[in-house]
Amino acid sequence: MKKSILIIGACGQIGTELTLKLREINGKNTVIASDIREGNPELMESGPFEFINAMDYNSIHNVVDKYNITDIYLMAAMLSATGEKFPAKAWELNMNSLFNVLNLAKEGIIKKVFWPSSIAVFGPTTPKENTPQATIMEPSTVYGISKQAGERWCEYYFNKFGVDVRSVRYPGIISWKTKPGGGTTDYAVEIFHNALLIEKYNSFLSKNTKLPMMYMDDAINATIKIMDAKPSEIKIRSSYNLAAISFTPQEIAEEIKKTIPEFSIKYHSDFRQKIADSWPKSIDDSNARKDWGWKHQFNLETMSKRMLNNLYSKYKGW
Ligand code: NAD
Repeated sequence: MKKSILIIGACGQIGTELTLKLREINGKNTVIASDIREGNPELMESGPFEFINAMDYNSIHNVVDKYNITDIYLMAAMLSATGEKFPAKAWELNMNSLFNVLNLAKEGIIKKVFWPSSIAVFGPTTPKENTPQATIMEPSTVYGISKQAGERWCEYYFNKFGVDVRSVRYPGIISWKTKPGGGTTDYAVEIFHNALLIEKYNSFLSKNTKLPMMYMDDAINATIKIMDAKPSEIKIRSSYNLAAISFTPQEIAEEIKKTIPEFSIKYHSDFRQKIADSWPKSIDDSNARKDWGWKHQFNLETMSKRMLNNLYSKYKGW
């Protein structure tokens, strides 16, 4: 059967670049973008788009029927910082959207599901350095609770109904094309914009707050690689730990100063500090590397160079 892909939440930070990459690989008409809002012009002009509310089973089902969809990537969610402001809405969106997609697969209407989890599944009692795949998980944010519950449901649907669902726990994702959507690691994107525009940044996390991060290209590669793996290679059906780099606001500021020596940073923690303090500093992702050959490419230096070069070109209109 021919592969046909639907991305739900395609206009967000990760969905935008995932859609563009999947269209480059599979052809634009094989990859249907969907969201409750329109995306940036590059995304909207690159192939088919449908309005879908991820909480509405019938609206997903209609589009699945219209395009004979086989694979769904569910990227719609409310992220950690916004979720703390609207906990009931975050729970409703994050859980209902997942059930809608898992149930489509359970009923045999679609074949394969990608659903991202997050390092937010870990909590204050989790070992912070080199956090193992299987460890104490007592998340303290509604976002983390929804991701952990989601992981349990993914594994349950695989064991009980044979649903082919695949998942990774993304760390903070750093990208230049689309701005991040209300997470605790958003500082690591904002800092590049501010460095280029006004040569200073006020960090909402303290200078020594170390968190696991990843450049967008690596996150997209991981997503496509786990979806392309043979079913027998996927040994974990909750969600795989995934890692690339870990750094603090001070370390990223030092890296930026190598290119923009005038850049300065100040630190004023807000409510997001507490969330960041509950998360791991670094992640052991050896299962993903062993089971389906995951490898990251970008370190702090190469990621920072890419961010500064791409954003410089964007702001100068080149
Ligand atoms: P984002 O907030 O940038 O994008 C989410 C998209 O979902 C938005 O375009 C939004 O309009 C859409 N959306 C919201 N409600 C919807 C609904 N009811 N129906 C359809 N679409 C809806 O998020 P992102 O950063 O691209 O994250 C994508 C996924 O990756 C999420 O599951 C998120 O939890 C996970 N994740 C992201 C990060 C990160 O650093 N960006 C880290 C860990 C996990």
